[in-house]
Amino acid sequence: MSDPIDLHCHSTVSDGMRSPQDLVAYAAGQGIKVLALTDHDNLGGLAIAREAAKLYDMQFIDGVEISVTWKKRTIHIVGLKIDPQNAALNQALNQVYADRDLRAQQMGEGLAKVGILGAYEAAKNIAKQNVITRVHFARFLVESGHAKDTKSVFKKFLVKGKPGFVDHQWMSLEQAVTLIKESGGIAVIAHPGRYDLGMINMLLLMHEFRKYGGTAIEVVTGSHTPPQYQQFAKIAHQFGLKSSQGSDYHGVGISFMEMGRLPALPNNCVPVWLDWPEVAGLGDGLAA
Ligand code: AMP
Ligand code: MN
Ligand code: MN
Ligand code: MN
Repeated sequence: MSDPIDLHCHSTVSDGMRSPQDLVAYAAGQGIKVLALTDHDNLGGLAIAREAAKLYDMQFIDGVEISVTWKKRTIHIVGLKIDPQNAALNQALNQVYADRDLRAQQMGEGLAKVGILGAYEAAKNIAKQNVITRVHFARFLVESGHAKDTKSVFKKFLVKGKPGFVDHQWMSLEQAVTLIKESGGIAVIAHPGRYDLGMINMLLLMHEFRKYGGTAIEVVTGSHTPPQYQQFAKIAHQFGLKSSQGSDYHGVGISFMEMGRLPALPNNCVPVWLDWPEVAGLGDGLAA
């Protein structure tokens, strides 16, 4: 049985397909009772989603997913219960917003070199004033017939070594964890099974993350296989880290996982929400 808790998803504020209001309505329809919106590097959807959640029997958690460069790789750190008004967090994310635009222009230049013109303008047009991501380029490239779907477009154009890839420098792990913590939030390593780290670096990541004040890792996520649920439950236990869960829902055509379908955390996990008042009211609705 699954818990009605989803602590990782995206709206149109970053690379999701649903507006914050629509996402909340959809989540409610899927039986979610505790929802965190975690857009990439942006807090712009939180106030709207929190307001929308009042229309349903739902507790809303302010969240974010911060892009980090660690050992030359991109890692995602989710912040839960952050303060959307926090000045340092807002200032840092405003800088990421500006840097993402420069990166997108460079992506456009890379694609122009292989004959795909106007990609930056087209992606910008899809993203509007929201955070511009590789997904917006993917949507343009699929719509203009350069690839058949999101999966193949990434492989062909948007990953390391391909024309639309830019080796971007995100913020440091220490800065992301510190910003989250100092805004009153809880830092969580997103989908650790997705990083091509090798075991030694994976353990080093856990060690450093904890040293900077990180609290939890995602154990059950739309990005993990069932064997990975067990693997990361074990790692969480080993490092004294709590466990989180989230679908990483983006919407039709981008994510393959619907909300409300995640299995419960393995029994030996300490849920990140263990002492949250938002979850206490769920009572018998909880599986873990
Ligand atoms: P960005 O933060 O701009 O690098 O965009 C990263 C986003 O692209 C991720 O959060 C995913 O939503 C999406 N993404 C990354 N890799 C893939 C992939 N191989 N297939 C589909 N979507 C992907
Ligand atoms: Mn995404
Ligand atoms: Mn992610
Ligand atoms: Mn995500």
